[in-house]
Amino acid sequence: MAGDFDTIVNLAKRRGFVFQASEIYGGLRSAYDYGPLGVELLRNVKEQWWHSTVRMRDDVVGIDSAILQSPEVWVASGHLASFTDPLVECRECNSRHRLDKLDDPNTCPTCGNSGTFTEPREFNLMFKTHMGPIESEDNVVYLRPETAQGIFTNFENVRRTARMKLPFGIAQIGKSFRNEITPGQFVFRTREFEQMEMEYFCHPDDAAEKFKEWTEIRKNWYIDLGMSMENLRFREHEDDELAHYATAGGGTFDVEYRFPWGWDELEGVANRTDYDLKAHIAHSGEDLSYFDPETNERFIPYVIEPAAGATRTTFAFLLDAYFEEEVNGEQRTVLKLDPRLSPIKVAILPLSKKPELVEVTQQVADALRPRWAIEVDVTQSIGRRYRRQDEIGTPFCVTVDFDSLDDAQVTVRDRDTMAQDRIPIDNLVSYLGDRLGF
Ligand code: ATP
Repeated sequence: MAGDFDTIVNLAKRRGFVFQASEIYGGLRSAYDYGPLGVELLRNVKEQWWHSTVRMRDDVVGIDSAILQSPEVWVASGHLASFTDPLVECRECNSRHRLDKLDDPNTCPTCGNSGTFTEPREFNLMFKTHMGPIESEDNVVYLRPETAQGIFTNFENVRRTARMKLPFGIAQIGKSFRNEITPGQFVFRTREFEQMEMEYFCHPDDAAEKFKEWTEIRKNWYIDLGMSMENLRFREHEDDELAHYATAGGGTFDVEYRFPWGWDELEGVANRTDYDLKAHIAHSGEDLSYFDPETNERFIPYVIEPAAGATRTTFAFLLDAYFEEEVNGEQRTVLKLDPRLSPIKVAILPLSKKPELVEVTQQVADALRPRWAIEVDVTQSIGRRYRRQDEIGTPFCVTVDFDSLDDAQVTVRDRDTMAQDRIPIDNLVSYLGDRLGF
């Protein structure tokens, strides 16, 4: 089971995962702030991506490039000329829509009228601003619409300094900005969002094989983190959907999630060919070709790119983890997040606020805190506290009771099975470490 849209948006606000940005001023459309639990969940998603993509491989390294780059980057990459979506406006109600995302390209979804759209015009999605105190055309810079270009422009820097040999990848996580015509569906499509992208450089002859490898790796990432197969779909792009760089026979593969409104993209794996490096070579005059000393061959590498959305994927994990179940005649809501993603790993709950129990609780908290994100909760009945922890996806609750004072043991409750184990406090770290697997 997965949560429906309103339920998850409501839970996200109520429990402090995601807030509307500038809420006290009525909110800024399409901008969101991540609260105490949301920031942990989002960081965990990014950390899992970084761990599997960079740390666990010796052929991938990371960078963190600037959001503001020379405008020449966007001229070379083709974004200034063709990073556009077709915009139509309804003559009847003046609403604006992205033509390629409309279910019916003739009928306005806002007012219901048919045949009222203007001719489509290509709308550029780049956010513009000025660098320095003078707001002139000469000082225009753009907020990056993807993290990938900061990787291409650093290809040679990274190859040289990290002494990388082909095939190798450069990974980056960071904010991107697109002036979307129709943002919406909560954090699914926003104008400011976070991406997790990796450019894997290889010999042109190896590109087809590497593309296959990365589609498999990326599929398995979602499955390994517990996303249910029935809500995941993997799909090759139709020709008319190909991005501007992928038209030269590259191919694109989508990871899609069954959102409450239907299947939609979480990630695209694309064969970007040598499009970007070639464009930067032509535009900058720098030599970004690669020389293979073993074969004495010089060539421009091809690039396989898995490009995922961190914020969008976080939303999908939230939706996917949501369950409502009846246990012993009682209704409970539980987020069955993989423990690696859970914002809080262990909640420590003293049965009462008596100083003796609070003292033991502090000792337990001190022992666990260096290793995991924990929360100490002393308010309300124990049943309510369990329900709150279930609802935010905490895999384990540790209860400190009056017996703990005599036997130096605590009760550990498992989120999914609700089974309880009595564990000596001295063994708690190793017990939880075994159960969590980290
Ligand atoms: P769409 O067709 O939905 O506009 P796209 O195919 O242009 O998206 P890419 O350029 O491939 O998207 O970006 C890679 C990933 O970045 C997407 O799969 C998505 O997860 C994320 N992403 C792109 N645009 C947004 C956005 N406006 N808000 C949130 N995430 C986004």
